Amino acid sequence: MSKEISSPYAQFRDLKALYVTDISSLAWCEQQFHYSLHAGGRTETTEMKAGSDIHLKLELEVHDLIKVSIETSEDLWGLKLFNLLFGLEALRTTGETRELPIFGFVSDIFVFGIIDQIKKFSNRRIRKNNDWEWRICDTKTRSKCFRPKKSDVPSSVKYQIMLYKKLFDNLAEGSIEEERIFEVLDLDADKPFSKKFSKYIKIYFSNNKKLNTLRKLMAFIKNYFGFFWKSSNVLEVNYKYQGDGSDLGSLYFEYEEDMLDKHLKRSIIYWKGDREPEGVPIEEAWKCQICEYAENCEWRLKKSSNVLEVNYKYQGDGSD
Ligand code: SF4
Repeated sequence: MSKEISSPYAQFRDLKALYVTDISSLAWCEQQFHYSLHAGGRTETTEMKAGSDIHLKLELEVHDLIKVSIETSEDLWGLKLFNLLFGLEALRTTGETRELPIFGFVSDIFVFGIIDQIKKFSNRRIRKNNDWEWRICDTKTRSKCFRPKKSDVPSSVKYQIMLYKKLFDNLAEGSIEEERIFEVLDLDADKPFSKKFSKYIKIYFSNNKKLNTLRKLMAFIKNYFGFFWKSSNVLEVNYKYQGDGSDLGSLYFEYEEDMLDKHLKRSIIYWKGDREPEGVPIEEAWKCQICEYAENCEWRLKKSSNVLEVNYKYQGDGSD
């Protein structure tokens, strides 16, 4: 089997798009991510379900949700673009949006993600753009009713939010490579949306006649992004308590482009099958204690065979 066929990208991503979390999750443990890919994804736990419910509740505070029928791949990506457009409109008019679709290229791979929240915040130190910035925020839910320490924010969370910022900023700078996107996703940019989907656009978007193909919609969005500019270098993680959804406060960290780029490079090499996944280093072996693959993990077994053991016995009765 050729390397191209056997790469995780070829094996597990039929839609030819990686999610932002496909890249950020590798920072927790690549080996664990690799096992979960082969197992068909992670099984939804009660905690994950509680987290999804809280995210939905937060989204409903700022958006209405409606059911839309789609028939073609062009409809599917058209819907994502319309959601982006609605989200940008909310951001422009109210200063806040949630669940904003975002996309772009990392190396030659198309990457897609959904930003939990972007909001306008005032920063008196800034002497441009009316003294305010766009701040990107991700919401995390916890089973414990207190916020973690700043040093405990995992690098996977930081990479996730930093990649959101990078993708958002690229779009805000007008660098949408639409032809490349259509080609990679194998989309017919000039094929009209299906009747059912067009009906939805007609109800919810007054410019429907002009925006009946992906090419026209993408051009409109590109133009619309002219209103926005690069987001803040300060990124936010907001914590909610899974028990009752109450707010536990936020932690903030700085965007570090070099660090992100190094991670992106390493991740793409993994996805293309040009290197094997790695497990956690010895200093992070505590992650193995809470890992569902610990029992049969090859990385762990290999590492533990290299660890030398000193066993202590009590001289009195020889007990361990
Ligand atoms: Fe990673 Fe440890 Fe789990 Fe292996 S046991 S997959 S090294 S976290």
